[in-house]
Amino acid sequence: MSALLMSSLSWVAYQERLQKDDLVLLLPCGALEQHGPHLPLGTDALLSGAIAQAVAERINGLVAPTLSYGYKSQPKSGGGQHFPGTTSLDGQSLSQMTRDVVREFARHGIKNLVVVDGHYENQWFLTEGIDLALRELGIANPLRIMRLEYWDFCTEATLNHVFPDGFPGFALEHAAVIETSLMLHFYPDLVALDQLPTDPPANFPPYDVYPTRIEWIPPSGVLSSAQGATATKGLLMAEQITASIAAAIQHEFG
Ligand code: ZN
Ligand code: MN
Repeated sequence: MSALLMSSLSWVAYQERLQKDDLVLLLPCGALEQHGPHLPLGTDALLSGAIAQAVAERINGLVAPTLSYGYKSQPKSGGGQHFPGTTSLDGQSLSQMTRDVVREFARHGIKNLVVVDGHYENQWFLTEGIDLALRELGIANPLRIMRLEYWDFCTEATLNHVFPDGFPGFALEHAAVIETSLMLHFYPDLVALDQLPTDPPANFPPYDVYPTRIEWIPPSGVLSSAQGATATKGLLMAEQITASIAAAIQHEFG
């Protein structure tokens, strides 16, 4: 079990793991961001970490410590920056932190790296950090990298199960049924089901304005209802997403 976490290995044990060419290092990336009154600020980091660990169990995987701060919360995907607790990085900071750790993993001799993103807004800054690192490492370096947002692995069959009345779309799935169900599965003690908000879903125009129009955001910070969330749905999604990510890694790196 301890063999799953890079931070719990000695450098000697880590070096031993590196001898196997099929070793895959997983780097979870999250955020410290409001997730309504019922979920913790660390939800994106906790879920990317839990999914990375579940994937690592299915392959020869090792999980690096989670990047726990993310890029700025956007009103239409994370509620925006005006909530207490939401603690974000400038894009350049996240890109450079990503570049730095990727370069270090390459120096160790890691050949297969999977960046498991759990915070929508991180996507292009993680991509930038990966690109900067690879440019610096040069094309001769054997490191191969996969970047993914875990929810993209949810199949239509799973979504039909989780949303019997129709899927509202990933855009409004902030602190809603998917994240709440996954949290009920992985971290039930951190979910306050009695605090589930009853706000109607957010209804955003097809543009953004700056500074943020905070009246666009439901006061709870939840962008669509989490009322249908259950631990059973969380288990179903966790199993399917984890199996699909493991299969994609075997396909690319196997
Ligand atoms: Zn989230
Ligand atoms: Mn987020």
